[in-house]
Amino acid sequence: MGLMNMASSASLWRGYAYFQSKKVLAIEQINESQFHGSVAGNQNHPYDVLIDIEHPRKSHCNCPLADGRRIICKHMIALYFTAFPQEAADYYKKVIAYEEEQERLAEETEARLVQCIKKMRKAELQNALIQLLEDRPDWQYDDFVDTYVDWEDDDE
Ligand SMILES: [Zn+2]
Repeated sequence: MGLMNMASSASLWRGYAYFQSKKVLAIEQINESQFHGSVAGNQNHPYDVLIDIEHPRKSHCNCPLADGRRIICKHMIALYFTAFPQEAADYYKKVIAYEEEQERLAEETEARLVQCIKKMRKAELQNALIQLLEDRPDWQYDDFVDTYVDWEDDDE
């Protein structure tokens, strides 16, 4: 498994942000598969990072999250994206495509929902509304009462 596949989505995103804001202060290629560098962190001193492309588990970083553990942290990802900028560009494209797809799905769902509501019979609508108001937040209930409840009707 590659370095990126072993990282959490949070580490990938934060690593990308670190790469973009040039937090990688130094990078050197050690051999075919290893890169060594320093990456600025929240602390005053930069972190010492080594990534191994062939054997991602041999990667290490002395930040609190990854030190002594087999975790792929954002500093490793930032170093990786600095060594392979095309991977960073591809990753960003995928994130944007995913977000656009989510947005499209949300719009499609909303359109379908409106379509379904328009087809519902009166009794179905009444049941759905009563059920909805039972689970509502208080402000929504009060708002609904203010808008729709007519106290004058009682006298009829
Ligand atoms: Zn780290």
